[in-house]
Amino acid sequence: MNETVIDELKKIVGEDRILTSKEDLLCYSFDGTPLRKFMPEVVVLPESADEISRVCKLAQKERFFIVPRGAGTSLSGGAVPSEGGLVLSMTKFNKIIEIDIENLTITVQAGVVTEEINKAVEKYGFFYPPDPASVKVSTIGGNVAENSGGLRGLKYGVTEDYVLGLEVVLPDGDIINTGVKTVKNVAGYNLNKLFIGSEGTIGIITEILLKLIPVPEYKKTFLVCFDDISNAASIVSKIISSRIVPATLEFLDNKTIRCVEEYTKIGLPINAGALLLIELDGNKEKVEKDTEKVIEICKKGKSISVDVARDEDEALKLTEARRSALSALARQKPTIILEDVTVPRNKLAEMVKEIDRISRKFNITIGTFGHIGDGNLHPTCLTDERDENELKRVEKAFSEIFEKAIALGGTISGEHGVEISKKKYLEKMIGSSGIKIMKKIKKVFDPNGILNPGKIF
Ligand SMILES: Cc1cc2nc3c(=O)[nH]c(=O)nc-3n(C[C@H](O)[C@H](O)[C@H](O)COP(=O)(O)OP(=O)(O)OC[C@H]3O[C@@H](n4cnc5c(N)ncnc54)[C@H](O)[C@@H]3O)c2cc1C
Repeated sequence: MNETVIDELKKIVGEDRILTSKEDLLCYSFDGTPLRKFMPEVVVLPESADEISRVCKLAQKERFFIVPRGAGTSLSGGAVPSEGGLVLSMTKFNKIIEIDIENLTITVQAGVVTEEINKAVEKYGFFYPPDPASVKVSTIGGNVAENSGGLRGLKYGVTEDYVLGLEVVLPDGDIINTGVKTVKNVAGYNLNKLFIGSEGTIGIITEILLKLIPVPEYKKTFLVCFDDISNAASIVSKIISSRIVPATLEFLDNKTIRCVEEYTKIGLPINAGALLLIELDGNKEKVEKDTEKVIEICKKGKSISVDVARDEDEALKLTEARRSALSALARQKPTIILEDVTVPRNKLAEMVKEIDRISRKFNITIGTFGHIGDGNLHPTCLTDERDENELKRVEKAFSEIFEKAIALGGTISGEHGVEISKKKYLEKMIGSSGIKIMKKIKKVFDPNGILNPGKIF
């Protein structure tokens, strides 16, 4: 990217919203994904859709790449500028535009930190359920681009279930709106769904219209411990098939429990083989009744202890401990590779056992946690990128893990996306015709390939 292009960019956003020094660029050369670092040539911090549109038009003329970036917490290399170019940081898009309680919606700019949405609406008695463990840092634009899940996915669904409309700048600079505040809208193709989970490759999301729902009246949070990891995993389908759908059903294996306890010191049972964090919410009477039923199911399923949180504070501590799982594991070794396989719930026990077998086969250390109620497991390898031999074994191990997930009728990613990390496994998942049609969709939006190159395919 030559000086003339940089000068043109300065004309669009002003000198103070362009970063070009090596020190600044370094901060945008990686995201939450290990082993992926590429320097961008310039970082631009736009403040309006119009500025982004002009940057896109310049990119078409000068043929440089644009990598949209929220908070950079992607765990699949999504925000890494894999081929240089311009990083478009969305952090200045941090405004809540409108809260409309009559229509149960909130309109936000794409760079708003996810947690801020709930802070803004809680006083009205409403909430926005999707809550990735990164909720305090990630942006809502990043959540939409990855179709993020979270701790409440089992009962409340994921990001896509709450997006009513988007304002998007297309790679050619056109600005479109994909939805309205109505509950129903079937005017033409569902462009909303196309942009959700599109991993920054077909448009830059600038504004998001989200659905809100009422805060449940009552909730109960408890921990159930098991000696054996597969007993914990097989409890999930027993709970949901008994017609109880917890808001949260999270899983930590022994390695993760130990690391989280060392980090948070909240008194987790470090000798348990596995634990489930369960939260039920809704009508008080029903929650109390369902809690009894779930505890009964767990006891029959060979649980060794149940601890019910005594108050909101204790419940919050348990949830925060679960949210810290990745950070807690990350303290153990220089390199942490977190994966994201998801299987049908009745196959969880088999998947968990297989992860254990594969880690022993390749002599690598894996801690597993995840949104087990969604069938979503995060086998997380603790390694060291300087050990090339071990890294090769890690790669083979994950390849076997993905193959097993596919064989069980699952997926290579439940929520973190394909981006760079999983692209070599995508064809196994969706077949060559699937890849062909996805590439055609990309071409329709971005024929010159300027947006987030090197991702997905
Ligand atoms: C500790 C930790 C816990 C996590 N827990 C979860 C979890 O529970 N569930 C889950 O699903 N994920 C989780 N993640 C992954 C990550 O937080 C999510 O993928 C999140 O949605 C990324 O948001 P971000 O703002 O950081 O996006 P970034 O990492 O900046 O970008 C991610 C992708 O979105 C694109 N993008 C960003 N903003 C826009 C935009 N405005 N328009 C178009 N494209 C855009 C980027 O180009 C990139 O492709 C976790 C990550 C960490 C580090």
